[in-house]
Amino acid sequence: MPFEFQIESTSNRARAGRLVTAHGEIETPVFMPVGTLASVKAVPQDTLEDLGIQILLGNTYHLYLRPGVETVRKLGGLHGFMSWPRAILTDSGGFQVFSLNELRKVTEDGVTFRSHLDGGSHFFSPESAMAAQIGLGADIIMAFDECTEFPADRARAQASMEMTLRWAERSKKYFDEHKHEVPWGTASGSPVERSSAAFDSGTTVVEEQSGLRPDGQPGAAVPTCFEQTQSLFGIVQGGMDLELRRESAERTIDIGFPGYAIGGLSVGEPRNLTREVVEATLDHLPADKPRYLMGVGTPEEIVEYSRLGVDMMDCVLPTRAARHGLLFTSEGRVSIKQARYAQDQGPLDPNCGCRVCQRYSRAYLRHLYASNEVLAQVLNTIHNLSFYLDTMRRVRHSIRLGEESRFF
Ligand SMILES: [Zn+2]
Repeated sequence: MPFEFQIESTSNRARAGRLVTAHGEIETPVFMPVGTLASVKAVPQDTLEDLGIQILLGNTYHLYLRPGVETVRKLGGLHGFMSWPRAILTDSGGFQVFSLNELRKVTEDGVTFRSHLDGGSHFFSPESAMAAQIGLGADIIMAFDECTEFPADRARAQASMEMTLRWAERSKKYFDEHKHEVPWGTASGSPVERSSAAFDSGTTVVEEQSGLRPDGQPGAAVPTCFEQTQSLFGIVQGGMDLELRRESAERTIDIGFPGYAIGGLSVGEPRNLTREVVEATLDHLPADKPRYLMGVGTPEEIVEYSRLGVDMMDCVLPTRAARHGLLFTSEGRVSIKQARYAQDQGPLDPNCGCRVCQRYSRAYLRHLYASNEVLAQVLNTIHNLSFYLDTMRRVRHSIRLGEESRFF
């Protein structure tokens, strides 16, 4: 089944709908947990399924370094490799490389960067970032963009936006020419052998550990019945300048993508500015295409952005905070490490139906954390993900009811 997006209900600016991918349907607005290295840290895939997660995010930069795109591709792409039958989205690596700061050099061709693991030199271009994402085989992949730093003056933000637009065209061109190389399984479920020729160009330094094959062979023939492909989303940039955001949105739409992301936020700007830029950018995005706000946010923010008409969000916050003992509950944030919970027999969140809150006490969770038990990370992450998913279920329910609720 081809990629589809259907809006089923609206409530003011908020929309509830459904994304249809080759690996299942996703109810929107959706929060996508981050599984950086083909793993949502501390939680096994069967538990993620039980939680009702319909789509995960993977990070191209990290997977490219470890275990390497070619390894993942040979093992059936991310779906086969990590045994996750539902949908996956990968970022382009642009934001991750941007985060390396001192370790990168940006030119028109692309970005040269040093691995945070061993200092090895690598190169991402729009073409090689697409090749990597096609090899990883996520359902939704992202154009290679430059994330404009904050603060940036208008000239800098404009130059960066212009380059992102040129890179968006190159990303789309490469994707259109190579999209049938996606390593999805055959009808029998076994991975299809495909070419890694995509890596021939655009990678100046090929590291052994990156798993790339410098002598890639010509691509295998594409079965005529093979109609499912990935979906490539464009990314709107423009810094914090609302006029540049409008221009970036309009020109990215002119290039033409099945979905649009708002990038370049959560880079150190104040939260009220984030909201202002999001709101202004959403006004210029097509109503009938999914809108993905990258890298947000807190439970309050994902509700707020859903209200403004965002359909997709992702953030490391619930999983990373959980590993540091910060838990989101219906009664506010709980820092489970605090001694005040040492004798607390109550559940973490009396209004949460998750398996952690149903079974364990705050005292036990506090003990696990204080003792540095691995189980603390597992249980804390399961609860935080449950809380985020429940929040989004309520948001979708509120939109479908079309009535005022505590969320809207
Ligand atoms: Zn819970």
